[in-house]
Amino acid sequence: MVVGGGFAGASCARALRQLDPRIVVTLVEPNGTFTACPFSNAVIGGLRELSAQQFTYERVAGDGITIARTSATAVDAPLADGAKLSYDRLVLAPGIDIRWGALQGYDEAAAGQMPHAWRAGEQTLLLRRQLEAMDDGGLVVISAPANPFRCPPGPYERASLIAHFLKTKKPKSKLIVLDAKDAFSKQRLFQAAWAELYPGLLEWVPLSKGGNVTSVDAATRTLMTDFGKHQAKVANVIPPQKAGRIAEVAGVADRSGWCPIDPATFESKLQAGIHVIGDAAIAGAMPKSAFAANSQAKVCAAAVATLLAGGTPSVPKLINTCYSLVAPDYGITVAGVYQPTGGQLADVPGAGGVSPSDAPRETRKAEAVLAEAWFRTITTEAFG
Ligand SMILES: Cc1cc2nc3c(=O)[nH]c(=O)nc-3n(C[C@H](O)[C@H](O)[C@H](O)COP(=O)(O)OP(=O)(O)OC[C@H]3O[C@@H](n4cnc5c(N)ncnc54)[C@H](O)[C@@H]3O)c2cc1C
Repeated sequence: MVVGGGFAGASCARALRQLDPRIVVTLVEPNGTFTACPFSNAVIGGLRELSAQQFTYERVAGDGITIARTSATAVDAPLADGAKLSYDRLVLAPGIDIRWGALQGYDEAAAGQMPHAWRAGEQTLLLRRQLEAMDDGGLVVISAPANPFRCPPGPYERASLIAHFLKTKKPKSKLIVLDAKDAFSKQRLFQAAWAELYPGLLEWVPLSKGGNVTSVDAATRTLMTDFGKHQAKVANVIPPQKAGRIAEVAGVADRSGWCPIDPATFESKLQAGIHVIGDAAIAGAMPKSAFAANSQAKVCAAAVATLLAGGTPSVPKLINTCYSLVAPDYGITVAGVYQPTGGQLADVPGAGGVSPSDAPRETRKAEAVLAEAWFRTITTEAFG
C-alpha cells in the first residue's frame, strides 16, 4: 500500500507494478487531480497556466493499481471514509505540511492574505492575482525559511520570476527577499544573474543582515525581523514545514517533524514494515525535490519488491538534479549523486556540481529547455 499520490508515491506505485506485476498495489490519495509544484513559480510569474501543472490518475489506474480516493488518517485503523485496508508493506509519501503557528502570526487565515504558495493550486493563483492587482511601484516581500524545507532553490527561483514579472509589467516596483539563512542553493549563480537581469529591483537580505522574519501581521501585510519591519503590498511567506501529518500519526516522524529512514531501503528507523519516501523523509544530503522523490521511489520500490520475495535489497546510488529558471530563457542547475554512508545518504565525492559560472547565454537558454524536458519526463513517470 502506498499513501500519497505525488511525485514519490505515484512513481513508487507504478515502479512496483513494473518490477513485479504480481504485486497488488493500492494507492491512497484524496485528490482526483494532482497539481505539481515544479514550474509553479512560472505560473506565479504569469508565464504559464495552472492547467499545465495538473495531472489525473487515469494512467496510474490503467497500470492495474487500485486508487483509494480518500485520506489515510491512521495506520492500523480505518481510513477517512471508514474503510480499512491491510498491507504487507506500507510506503508513506505524504509530502509536507505547513507548521502553522511556528512563525508568530502565520496561521491558515493569514495564508489567505499572505500566501505561501508552497503547495501548488489555489495558493499559487492567489499570489499571482495579488501581483497582477498591485499598482506599479509596490513593494513585494518574500520570506524564506531556515533549512530543511521543500525545494531549497525554490524561493530564489520564485524571486527571479517575480522580478521578471515586475521588470516587464511594473518596473517601478521593488522585491525584497528576507532570508532566515546566510547561504542558499546555487547562490553564486542566482546572484550573478540577478545583478545582470534585475539590478536595483531585487534585494536579498540574509540572516546576518536582518533577514530572519520573527512574526507577521496579515491584516497590514507587515513582516517583523530582529532589525525592523517591512510593510509589503504583496507578501509571500514561505513558512517552516514538516512531514505530512500521517507520518506523525503513524509514528515514523521524529522530534524534528521529519522521518528517519534506512538509506538503502527507505524503511523507517522507527517502525518496521513502513517505508517513507519523498519530502517527508530525512534523506541526508539529498534535497527535498521532485527529482529526488522520483529517485527514492524507484529505489524503495526495488527494495520492497525484493523484501516481499524474501531477498536482500542491494545498496543503491541515487541521483538528483534541480533546475531553476532565473528568467524564461535562463536556466541553472545543481546535480548530485548519493549513496548510503554511515546510516545516511551522503554525497558521492567528486560527482555532481552546478552549472558553470562563466557559461554563455546559449548554455543558460539550453538549460531552460532541459528544465522543461525534465518536467515532461518526471510527470510522465508519475502520472502519464
Ligand atoms: C515552488 C516550488 C517549486 C518547485 N520546483 C521544483 C523543481 O523545479 N524541481 C524539483 O525536483 N522539485 C521542485 N519542487 C519540490 C517538489 O514539488 C517536491 O519535492 C515534491 O512534490 C515532493 O514529492 P512528494 O511525493 O514527497 O510530495 P507531494 O508531491 O506533495 O505529494 C504528496 C501527496 O500525498 C498526498 N497525501 C498527503 N497526506 C495524505 C494522506 N494522509 N492520505 C493520502 N494521501 C495523502 C497529497 O494529497 C499529495 O498528493 C518545487 C516545490 C515548490 C514549492
